[in-house]
Amino acid sequence: MKAAVLENKGVLTYTDVPTPEPGPGHVRLRIKAISICGSDIKRYVDGHRMYPLILGHENSGVIDRVGKDVSESYLGKHAAIIPLVPCFKCEECQRGYYSACHDYSFIGSRQSGGYAEFVDLPEKNALILPDDVPFERAALIEPSTVARHMLALGDFKRGQTAVVLGAGSIGLMIVQWLRILGASQIIVTDVLEENLQIASKIGAHVTLNPLKVDVIKEVQKILGDGADLTLEATGVPQVLEQTLPITRPRGRVVLAGNQPLDKSLPLTFIENMMRREISLIGCFMSYSAPFPGHEWTETVAALLNGGLDMDALISHRFPLSKAPEVFKKIGAHQLAHQKIILSPQETA
Ligand SMILES: [Zn+2]
Ligand SMILES: [Zn+2]
Repeated sequence: MKAAVLENKGVLTYTDVPTPEPGPGHVRLRIKAISICGSDIKRYVDGHRMYPLILGHENSGVIDRVGKDVSESYLGKHAAIIPLVPCFKCEECQRGYYSACHDYSFIGSRQSGGYAEFVDLPEKNALILPDDVPFERAALIEPSTVARHMLALGDFKRGQTAVVLGAGSIGLMIVQWLRILGASQIIVTDVLEENLQIASKIGAHVTLNPLKVDVIKEVQKILGDGADLTLEATGVPQVLEQTLPITRPRGRVVLAGNQPLDKSLPLTFIENMMRREISLIGCFMSYSAPFPGHEWTETVAALLNGGLDMDALISHRFPLSKAPEVFKKIGAHQLAHQKIILSPQETA
């Protein structure tokens, strides 16, 4: 089969690789739609722990083969990939904290992913979907679950106010979940006007561009002491520092942006957090018990009832064969984009 393989830092090739056969307890998905994740771009630009690797964990397709001990009733079913493969045995898995599993794998990071015609995955990692969910929308289920998980961690309640820092794909998914779950005020910040326009279209009440206005002052003008919940989805240190002054005392801040590991925070940040009794909450992936969690079932329900607008987030579509060029352009900052969908070539 054809696949886009990360061969080294900054080296992605479209090439022939062996077609996987599903092992016992596994199914094989014939990939129909692939969405490029920011983490895939990071693996390409900054390098990854292992090579060669078929990237890709935001995928949908049709189950075309099943391994031993798997019901044939799966054949022909549409599914999206649930990328985390926990051990289901360790202390954290027993608690239902699957993303903290002591011995996990991850499709598209620690094992072959979906930038390919086919992917082999455990039966439990196939999220079975109704046939009428378009494949492109199904490929965007995973990033939506991360946003839903952030709101669960932040204990978001209907009627609360929120600030979303960053209107990339996770930020825009957060905006939609805030709208669906009934936020009274949704403020979104981003340096790109295009992103803010999409945010407005899908539910933001106010958008702020930090290149044009003082975000802290503007949020305080609108929300007084700050938001009930602040969601950080940029991974930019200066933005992280803004989270406390825009959050009300006893409010919550949920962090999902991956920060550069060679930077540090002044301890005034912690002092500010203590004085205002703000809860700082980390978010990693999107899982809860029973696996994969309510984040996934709620996302599928919101897709089916039209609550989640995935189409507004898709900016480009390319065949998978163009992945090397697409990544080169993204790496060189020559392709301003939201979600990019890749499609494997149809072969018989
Ligand atoms: Zn992702
Ligand atoms: Zn485990």
